[in-house]
Amino acid sequence: MKAALIGSPVSLSLSPMIFNYISCEENCPLDYSAQDVEPSELTSYLNQLRLNKEYLGVNVTIPHKESVMQDLDQFSEEAAAIGAVNLIYRNAGSLMGFNTDVTGIKKTLINQEFVVDGKNCIILGAGGAAKAMAFVLGKLKANNVYIYNPRSNRGEELVKKYNIIFPETKFVSIHHFDDCKSKSISLIVNSTPIGMKNFSSNSQIENDFFNEVEKITFEKNALAYDLIYNPKNTAFIKKLKQLGLQTVGGLGMLVDQALASWEILYKPLKDIKKIHNDLINILSGILYLRENSEPLYLTGFMGVGKTTIAKELALMTGRTFIDTDHLVEKSTGMTISQIFKDQGELKFRESETAAVLQASTIKNSIISLGGGALVNQNNLETVLKNGTLIYLSADENSLAKRLSKTTRPLFLGLNHEETKVKVNELLQQRKKNYMKANIEIQVLNVLPFETACKVIAKIGTLKG
Ligand code: NAP
Repeated sequence: MKAALIGSPVSLSLSPMIFNYISCEENCPLDYSAQDVEPSELTSYLNQLRLNKEYLGVNVTIPHKESVMQDLDQFSEEAAAIGAVNLIYRNAGSLMGFNTDVTGIKKTLINQEFVVDGKNCIILGAGGAAKAMAFVLGKLKANNVYIYNPRSNRGEELVKKYNIIFPETKFVSIHHFDDCKSKSISLIVNSTPIGMKNFSSNSQIENDFFNEVEKITFEKNALAYDLIYNPKNTAFIKKLKQLGLQTVGGLGMLVDQALASWEILYKPLKDIKKIHNDLINILSGILYLRENSEPLYLTGFMGVGKTTIAKELALMTGRTFIDTDHLVEKSTGMTISQIFKDQGELKFRESETAAVLQASTIKNSIISLGGGALVNQNNLETVLKNGTLIYLSADENSLAKRLSKTTRPLFLGLNHEETKVKVNELLQQRKKNYMKANIEIQVLNVLPFETACKVIAKIGTLKG
């Protein structure tokens, strides 16, 4: 079956990665792609989707979340109230709009153990995400919800509509924080793009916010929630942390809206908590590797799958794949086997050291190191000084099995028993340096994508 994310632009979206991971974990094959759809193409795209039985549905992102509604047949309660859709489910030729951002927001508040009932809250912004946020606060019976969106009248419109839908909560549009001075605030939410990576804003509103926010009276355990997930530490988060608030970012919302989409499109997840936690770590790792440019090196015995896994990692992170063996072949104009045969291993190791140095100068790279490269102490020092080193490990038996039919120079002509002895001997020499790696990942019999996810998740937990 197929599903997709539609929007424009979508090339940097994390959704395909999220859905591929769920599909792998659940053992449910799903072909999920990110498709660039311009506003002028939207209606015809949806007409085709209506008839395409291969598709379960599509997720929707900027700029179509609101405009898409005119082409749909039915809506969930949330989507109808908010006036925005982030998921279209195709059911027997009919298109139904959902808003799973609401689930994402609700789950984050639950994970933070934040009880909304009776609380006073401030929302910055009055766009699509703010409306989903306000919906959750109304549904969970907040006392007062102040909408701070001084640039336009969208705050007034939101307040007018939500005061009718949620009579137990008072929604108020404010232009100054003085307007809510008399109340103790328990939750403040940023649902503007201010602070987002690559969003340039010299907004007066931003300056006013940072000057004025200190006037707000916050409850003792108040929570600051930024819907932005990239970067993790926005100016909003930093400022409110300084003021003593608990803080949370938007990554959980991103993951949980996707998990809710999957459950509507497909079926309930077997272990939603595990998938949620795995995805938080994987996405933190991807964001770290996109944000920081130092190389990521893969080491491990030959045959362990360094090249395939490095290529997968490069694909997932948008980094450049580099193989030190390729660099050696390029610089010498000979294949590795030829160098071994004509000039000997020592000569190969000299070229390899030059290749490790050359690769280490390339930023935003995933570098697959030759299996013996780190026997040389200088190479090990270069690698540890310049980036993060991952050791892909496997037991001797599986390595011997993988290398039994290899044409690699060090194993050429050996039978299975001789290969095993050679693997053992070389591993004894090399293991000491492999073990100096920052991270060890055991390579089991799984898809390269799954091992790549493990590598990234580990980076996410350590550095993200
Ligand atoms: P939107 O519909 O465009 O609304 C943006 C809101 O921010 C509007 O109220 C707008 O004010 C205000 N705003 C924009 N630029 C501003 C500036 N320079 N100064 C002051 N106010 C400004 O966007 P959205 O869909 O609600 O998304 C908002 C943010 O939420 C996004 O940037 C995204 O990071 C985040 N988000 C996160 C997730 C997640 O899964 N974590 C999901 C959705 C959204 P006007 O009314 O004056 O235009």
